[in-house]
Amino acid sequence: MVNLPNSHPWRNTEEFARQLDADDPLSRLREDFHIPRRPDGSEVSYFCGHSLGLQPRMARALVEEELDQWAALGVEGHFAGAAPWYSYHELLREPTARLVGARPSEVVVMNSLTVNLHLMLTTFYRPHGTRCKILIDTPTFPSDLYAVQSQIQYHGHDPGQALLMLHPRSAEGCLRTEDILAFLDSRGEEIAVVLLSGVNFVSGQFYDLPTITAAAHRKGCCVGWDLAHAAGNVVLQLHDWEIDFAVWCSYKYLNGGPGAVAGCFVHERHGHNLALPRYAGWWGNDPATRFRMQLEDRFIPRPGADGWQLSNPPILALAPLRAAMALFETVGMPTLRTRSERLTGYLEALVEELPAGEMLTPRDPAARGSQLSLRIPGKARALTERLAERGILVDFREPDVIRLAPVPLYNRFHDVWRAAQALRDLLTD
Ligand SMILES: *Cc1c(COP(=O)(O)O)cnc(C)c1O
Repeated sequence: MVNLPNSHPWRNTEEFARQLDADDPLSRLREDFHIPRRPDGSEVSYFCGHSLGLQPRMARALVEEELDQWAALGVEGHFAGAAPWYSYHELLREPTARLVGARPSEVVVMNSLTVNLHLMLTTFYRPHGTRCKILIDTPTFPSDLYAVQSQIQYHGHDPGQALLMLHPRSAEGCLRTEDILAFLDSRGEEIAVVLLSGVNFVSGQFYDLPTITAAAHRKGCCVGWDLAHAAGNVVLQLHDWEIDFAVWCSYKYLNGGPGAVAGCFVHERHGHNLALPRYAGWWGNDPATRFRMQLEDRFIPRPGADGWQLSNPPILALAPLRAAMALFETVGMPTLRTRSERLTGYLEALVEELPAGEMLTPRDPAARGSQLSLRIPGKARALTERLAERGILVDFREPDVIRLAPVPLYNRFHDVWRAAQALRDLLTD
């Protein structure tokens, strides 16, 4: 028996894991998803929800509804039918706002994450004088790194000078909040935009968003968060935390499907400032005059995050996201988070008993989401392959990290037990 700081007496037996599943009514949510199967028909234990969430069973029907609408109505589908396309993205507004702790007008579902990041930096990265730098965390997801490097160059600056990076102390896998605050304190005045990931994609560390945001604001920085690994994973309060902008994708913890339409948050104190510079397109314009087309030569941004939209949205790609968001609506993020902490806590307890491997992810449940990253030097890649042969899908990151996400919507305690058991077998072989 292993006792965790949160004092769950976890047991490392299959029977105990099955009992935990039987005792938690949320275990039934799994039935709302398609679980991948092995050639022999048995279900895979899927730990890659941090990369691509599984398909909600409702997704197909919602996509077919729009295919039918298109077949039956053609262009009329924009304004007729059960869910007219003209306002289709509005169906996602309230669920999205609740998911990230925003006011409805502060969020919009559009484009993909990196596109939204560029749109946000176009508005909020306004280097002037000595305040011309962008601060990011490391390890950095390559797309974010390329986006900020190119934005810096676009403004005529040198990324070698204008890109500042926060590194964990040597031999530590995570950033200490005190170090981030000290950095902001000493260098904050040079920084135009602080752009950190809400949950770091390698370590799984969930940063202290309100404390860091407030500290950066005190130094006059604009603060954006990349929530790719945080949305649908941890409880967020973007409005109350006074975050300036945030972006996220919808295909990881949100289960919106491969390349799903992404999310964007603009705090209302900016969203209602129609004078903010931005890239414009017709969908960001006031919908009352949008279809006057050639009669309107002036762009009037819609107040709120909607004013950053460019194009009419891909309805067929929004449909599966509706299915996924409906599930978040039935349960609510705080309830999911409680189950997530228990699942991850169980995995942590079992992983602690393994003969090898070092945990990169913070031990404090409040400082992580539903991901544990294990560093297993020399063995991680082969282990990932061996686990897949046994029907356990985990993710490998160069050079030696395995990332497992026990997702509260569709993973079971039994999956966690199976994964830990298989790891133990493979590591003692
Ligand atoms: C997944 C992820 C992305 C992906 O970007 P796309 O534009 O959706 O391809 C970007 N940044 C981070 C931090 C991610 O985790």
